[in-house]
Amino acid sequence: MLKDLKELKNKAQEEVKQANTLRELERISKEYLGKKGELTQILHSLKDLPKTSRAEVGKETNEIREFLKAEIDKKVSGLEETDKKEEEKKEWIDISTPAPKPNLGHLHPLTILKRKIEEIFNNMGFATIEGPEVENEWYNFDALNIPKNHPARDAWDTLWLKDDDLLLRTHTSPVQIRYMEKHQPPLRIIVPGKTFRRDATDASHDVQFFQIEGLMIDKEVSAANFKAVIQEFFRQFFAKPIKVRLRPGFFPFVEPGFEIDMSCLVCGGKGCSTCQKTGWIEMMGAGMVHPNVLKAAGLNPKHWQGFAFGMGMDRLVMMKYKINDIRLFNSGDLRFLKQF
Ligand SMILES: [Zn+2]
Repeated sequence: MLKDLKELKNKAQEEVKQANTLRELERISKEYLGKKGELTQILHSLKDLPKTSRAEVGKETNEIREFLKAEIDKKVSGLEETDKKEEEKKEWIDISTPAPKPNLGHLHPLTILKRKIEEIFNNMGFATIEGPEVENEWYNFDALNIPKNHPARDAWDTLWLKDDDLLLRTHTSPVQIRYMEKHQPPLRIIVPGKTFRRDATDASHDVQFFQIEGLMIDKEVSAANFKAVIQEFFRQFFAKPIKVRLRPGFFPFVEPGFEIDMSCLVCGGKGCSTCQKTGWIEMMGAGMVHPNVLKAAGLNPKHWQGFAFGMGMDRLVMMKYKINDIRLFNSGDLRFLKQF
């Protein structure tokens, strides 16, 4: 009987050792120490034993009971401790973890390429100059040899402000005059900036758009110089060789004036639907600065000459990125903006 008790003790002890959950320990406790547990039953059956061994078996059984109870308690508190630690681990905050990155914005496609354009011209010796977006009649029209009866002054073309003399500039050319008034040639500038027209909006027109103006004044500057500068600009901007051609064109502030075409980017000059089968795309207006404009800015046309050009920056950016609607630039549509 004592031998059986010993085996029972070993078996119970082993089970406690193997137990990994509180539920298992509860089961073991019930199995051995519960009302119908093995040890309890042995105690109940003591009366059936011979008197000689009764005391000894009783004593031994009670000792095993106490021992097992202590073992189980020890294991229970051990498991509870582990659980607590696990819980704490879950709640623990690592203050050294880098914070989640905030959503950063990026430059607008017009700004990205405006900077690119400035970089190209700056490298050719042109300074970037800015001027006011609200102009008066003198700088926007008169000084640029645009007479009073010129259709560009019509209320349908120009956004006049309440004060009769003020308007939202229709081109960046007024900055030419402002700059020449204060600086002696030789000079080379580009003027990027917003311009405004009272246009009905469609895929290629908006009431607000960007222009890049260029001006070079020196003692001997010719149309050939202009062609070289602009061809080099296109080559760098589109990152491929581009052919440029000059056609006669009329602008009041230049004489002679040119329309500038460049070879079609899509077909390389062979003719396609983009260039309407001509192989050329109209890019800008330019010309040799009109003597009246030089005079208006306080320069003597007998001593100085030069070229000026103006192009739509939105158009350039649209060609570079293959964007088909100018209105996307100011739409604030993130699906559009995120592509750049
Ligand atoms: Zn083409």
